[in-house]
Amino acid sequence: MGFLRPLIREGRAEISNDGLDLVELWKSRLEAERALRKEAERMVEYRMRELAEIRKVLERRVHERTRELELEIEVRRQAEAELAKAYREAAQDSRMKSQFLASMSHEIRTPMNGVIGMLQVLASTELTEEQRDYADTIRRCADDLLVLLNDILDLSRLEAGRLDLEQTPISLADTVGHVVTLLSPLAVKKGLSLRLIVPPETQDLVVGDGLRLRQILTNLIGNAIKFTHSGGVFVSFRQVRRLDDLVHVQFEVQDTGIGIPEDQQARIFERFTQSDTSTTRLYGGTGLGLAIVRSLVTLMDGDVHVESELARGSRFYFTVPLKLVPGQTTPRRTVTAASSALVGLRALVVDDNHVNLKVAQHMLKSFALEVFATDSAAAALEHARTNPVDFIFTDLYMPEIDGFVLIEQIQKAEIHAPVIVMTATNVPEDLRRCQEAGVAAILQKPIHRNGVREVLDTLLERFPTKNGEIKVSEIVGTPGI
Ligand code: ADP
Repeated sequence: MGFLRPLIREGRAEISNDGLDLVELWKSRLEAERALRKEAERMVEYRMRELAEIRKVLERRVHERTRELELEIEVRRQAEAELAKAYREAAQDSRMKSQFLASMSHEIRTPMNGVIGMLQVLASTELTEEQRDYADTIRRCADDLLVLLNDILDLSRLEAGRLDLEQTPISLADTVGHVVTLLSPLAVKKGLSLRLIVPPETQDLVVGDGLRLRQILTNLIGNAIKFTHSGGVFVSFRQVRRLDDLVHVQFEVQDTGIGIPEDQQARIFERFTQSDTSTTRLYGGTGLGLAIVRSLVTLMDGDVHVESELARGSRFYFTVPLKLVPGQTTPRRTVTAASSALVGLRALVVDDNHVNLKVAQHMLKSFALEVFATDSAAAALEHARTNPVDFIFTDLYMPEIDGFVLIEQIQKAEIHAPVIVMTATNVPEDLRRCQEAGVAAILQKPIHRNGVREVLDTLLERFPTKNGEIKVSEIVGTPGI
């Protein structure tokens, strides 16, 4: 209304009664609006206060939660640090355990070499029946102890993930053939036939770990012979799949033996497990062989199975993928066993341990070799420089001049005889060094006649000599094996 007053005064505006009513109406509306605005302002203020309260509560909660999270993170950080520490300690423990096992095996194998070797020497002398019986019993116990020692060592290495597979070109027929050849005397002794069936159309050269494949086959064929009393054992292998340069090869060992109860078949692959409690009493053994077989096959990315029927026999088979050696066209190599080819060849043997030296000397002499034996690497070198030598057998760890230096000196002196290292070591670096130095073969101590013979036969293939007969009771297959 105030704004009308100057206009009324100047006569430019009039207020009628109706106008006065309107003014009153506006006035009351204005007041109502003002009251409403105030109310709204109060409401806003109230809401603001409420929001501020809520904000405070929220801030307090966020703060509390942040603190809780910080604590949680701290606890986790501590747990992680403890875990990392525990892991480091476990890794250190595992390294120490492997180191301990490697040293122990070396320490135990060295005297075992003496025990087994001297027993072989003893057995070749004149003995009364009673004495021979005692010597045989000691020999069997020593052999069992050595097998157990090697099995425990292998299994602990496998379980610690410390067993590396070699990747070298190998012949399938030779690999299987060698195991069959080595085990055939056991089969013959029990009056069993041992047959190896070689497939005619299989590519033979593959890349793999020959030593470990032989170990698997030795376990399976050894068991088959052990648990069979009549009939025989059949060994075979065949290519089941091929993808480019990768072949899946299935190896099979079938026997006509005692069989395994169905409910035991899955268990026998566990360590220290035998199919029934009387097995140890009747057949001996430790129940480690098949555990090693399964671990090795798994390491090779393969699988192993058994089918068996009580009193009818068992069939063990495993399949592993193997890379083909490219460009092979030739059929299998021949597994040979030289007989008279060794007569008169000259071997030089050096080992600072007198018992081991004697063992090697006797063994080589029994193959009709002429042997020069010495405990000094210097004397060995001198002998090789001044006399013709066909094979040099040397120990690795010797005082003054060790095996590595001796090999170096032999090469420097341009003495071309193949060097065979005899060692109880398992230290991979040392074995690798031997290979790099170009040694012809490594014989693990305690050395065995069969192992020495195998090495000599293999090396003999480089000589133009006549080969003897294969000592397997029966081998079926294409010519060549
Ligand atoms: P070991 O032969 O030292 O007892 P293995 O792990 O090689 O240990 O074998 C475990 C068990 O499986 C044997 O004790 C035996 O009961 C059973 N077994 C293995 N191979 C055969 C087989 N060819 N025939 C019958 N039983 C077998």
